[in-house]
Amino acid sequence: MRTRISGGWVVGHHAGRHRLDAGHEVVFEGDNILYVGPKFEGPVDREIGAKDKLVSPGFIDTHVHSGHRASHRLITDAGRGDYFGQPFFEISVPKEGTRIHGDVRYLRPDETGMEAELELHALFTVAELLRNGVTTFVEYGSQLRIQEALMTQCLALGVRGYLGPGYDSGRWVGDEQGRLKRVVNEENGRREFTGALKWIERHDGAGAGLIKGILVPRELETCSLDLLRMTREKADEMKLPIATHAAYSIIEFYEVVREHRKTPIEILADLDMLRPTLNIGHGNLPADSVRLNYPGAQDLKLMGAAGVSISHCPINIVRRARVLDNWQRYTELGINIALGSDTYPRDMMLNMRTASYHGKVMSHNYKAATAADVFSAATLGGAKSLGRDDLGRLAAGARADILLIDLSGRGTLRMGPVRDPIKTVVECGVGDDVDTVIVAGEIRMQNGRIAGLDIDALRQRAQEAGERVWGNWHTSDPLGRTHDEMCPLSFCPASYRDGVIE
Ligand SMILES: [Zn+2]
Repeated sequence: MRTRISGGWVVGHHAGRHRLDAGHEVVFEGDNILYVGPKFEGPVDREIGAKDKLVSPGFIDTHVHSGHRASHRLITDAGRGDYFGQPFFEISVPKEGTRIHGDVRYLRPDETGMEAELELHALFTVAELLRNGVTTFVEYGSQLRIQEALMTQCLALGVRGYLGPGYDSGRWVGDEQGRLKRVVNEENGRREFTGALKWIERHDGAGAGLIKGILVPRELETCSLDLLRMTREKADEMKLPIATHAAYSIIEFYEVVREHRKTPIEILADLDMLRPTLNIGHGNLPADSVRLNYPGAQDLKLMGAAGVSISHCPINIVRRARVLDNWQRYTELGINIALGSDTYPRDMMLNMRTASYHGKVMSHNYKAATAADVFSAATLGGAKSLGRDDLGRLAAGARADILLIDLSGRGTLRMGPVRDPIKTVVECGVGDDVDTVIVAGEIRMQNGRIAGLDIDALRQRAQEAGERVWGNWHTSDPLGRTHDEMCPLSFCPASYRDGVIE
């Protein structure tokens, strides 16, 4: 069936860049864009009107930690000084020998009876992404059963997922005094790596290409050099993209320097891993960062020379008083900036806005990190990190992943008068403004509604799941704190006396 979208603003594409035209048309058939331009002369079977809408390529979220993120909701305005403001440590380092109750990402591989939790975890993730106009996402290294559940929901709701069980040679835990401790298990890492390869071989290309494989050695400091080397070899052989956390934490940076006498980025360069299809999360603490006081830094130059990609997750890092330092320098050196949500909410418009405003401040240049730059990062930047020139753009021959973004403000005055819809979306938009989502030529959301999905019921299930995570927090917290001790409510309730809720 051939479909024409007409009557709105269109983000087209030419020679590697977006273009913006009022009144252009987009015609697609199946998972293939046939035409983008002024009036299409051929016959069509279906018309979609785009009056007061921006017709845009689907967003690409390059850094998703799946689930309802109940534990992440404990990190804002709270935390431990000895974790140096790293949210990853704050919420996912359990006391040694325990695990975070209620979060299925930490299930033991042999644990049974958690199907409903796994289903909720995956459905919430994929539905939230779809509601916000994300048509392709990268899951950042959850274990195998999470990937299975995500694949089921990607196929059911029709969203492109880059999936693959994560692996590492060790994890961070809290010792008996609550101190950070790195537990190494090389054999386990190899086993997980083999499992990841098998999973990818089996599922890569499933759902007519909706599901694609990605190699995710979880963090640089928790992976041995051997494991990273094997990752690079398999990525070359199987032509897979890679994602890993590196240059993302002060502790990680100095652990790696202490162990190898090299920076995390220098290690990746030595292993010949720096490339456009290496997605570095978050790459905001390279040796060049003033926060690290490291002499002779060359990380950003190495990254730029290789055209490496970073998944920049502005909302997540700014909650820890972190920023990318700085947007202009990264891009001038040749680093490909892609955007990711990482945390909640999975709203690419809020992420674009945050990236733009902090990009301007940190570049000391209000002409940096423009609306066009951050919009390109959320689309073309993500596509580049995946080695895809058929995603993130509306052009003949590209995949039919298309958004209609409502520029009316949906019953509010938030948008105001619209002159430049890209700036309107970046400055005034929220994810809820996405009206229609088409993935692989199929309408997956229309008028903000996903067929067959009860959003209220899903949110209620997530609320109950969140309360289970918070209620059990003390059983895995390295200091034995309750959730109220770790992260007090913004204002004390009347029943709060001497640090205890009565
Ligand atoms: Zn992450």
